[in-house]
Amino acid sequence: MSYRPNITNVTKASSNDKEGLYEFIIKLADGTECRAFYNRYPEWKMTNISRLLKTPCPVCRKDFICKCMDAFTPELEEQMSNTWIEKSIAE
Ligand SMILES: [Zn+2]
Repeated sequence: MSYRPNITNVTKASSNDKEGLYEFIIKLADGTECRAFYNRYPEWKMTNISRLLKTPCPVCRKDFICKCMDAFTPELEEQMSNTWIEKSIAE
C-alpha cells in the first residue's frame, strides 16, 4: 500500500499579494502538517513543500527532515487547486 495524502484543512500562513507569493499550512487526515509555498503567476503553482516536524513522516517514519513529501506534490497540488486555495485566501 502506498501512501495517499488527504488534505483536511488549509490555512494561509503568509502572503505577498503584489508578488503573488503565498505560504500555506496544510493539514492531512493522518495528522501530518506541511508548509507549502505557492506562486500564483502566471498560474497557481506549488514551488516548495516541506513537512512540519511535529509528527514523524507518514512515509519513512523519520522525525527529522526528509524529502518524502516532494513525491506527493502533484497529488497535493491537485487537491489544493479544487477548493482549498480559494477558501484559504478568502479568510
Ligand atoms: Zn519521510
